[in-house]
Amino acid sequence: MEIDDIPLIAGHPALDFLNALEERARPAEVNYLPSYQHLLRWSARADLLSERTQRALTRAQADHPGKAKKVWAAAMDLRRALDAIFRTLAKGKPPPEDALHMLNATLAAAHAERGLQPQAGGALAWRWERPEALEIAAWEIALTAAALLTDQERCARIRICGNPACDWMFLDESRTGQRRWCRMNVCGNEAKVRRFRERQRTEQ
Ligand SMILES: [Zn+2]
Repeated sequence: MEIDDIPLIAGHPALDFLNALEERARPAEVNYLPSYQHLLRWSARADLLSERTQRALTRAQADHPGKAKKVWAAAMDLRRALDAIFRTLAKGKPPPEDALHMLNATLAAAHAERGLQPQAGGALAWRWERPEALEIAAWEIALTAAALLTDQERCARIRICGNPACDWMFLDESRTGQRRWCRMNVCGNEAKVRRFRERQRTEQ
């Protein structure tokens, strides 16, 4: 699997961002975002960056590769913080303080860099003051995560996949609120096969 075909199934980009890292519990975790360029491609796929911004940031990355690497590393730290926050919330517990502190610091930096600007059609729009700032990729993620974290109704529907070998998260938007699997065709089927084998064992 590559970043261009990793399924975006979480129902929210903040959770899809966490799902771009797999098998945290095992010795060899799989990071589908191993570089700033991957982060840009994923953000564009997740509709967090416009094509125009993606192009501007690709150019900025070519001009400042060292800085891009630092921003990528900070985005991976942000992902660890968001992961801790969303997982504790899914279990009905308060988020860890250090993780919340890191998210708040990123949000403060993001807010300091954007302002309202007029646009065609009347309504105003948020605009980045430096459209080529490499950090925009991480700031957009922090902002969308904050939007989800402050949404009482959707926060109550954040789930961790019921497959113990899977650690993906998703928003359960089913009518019954009983969705168990991140991907029915992957984790749901695995569980079915496991139950079938267990039944066979007990019958023998
Ligand atoms: Zn799963």
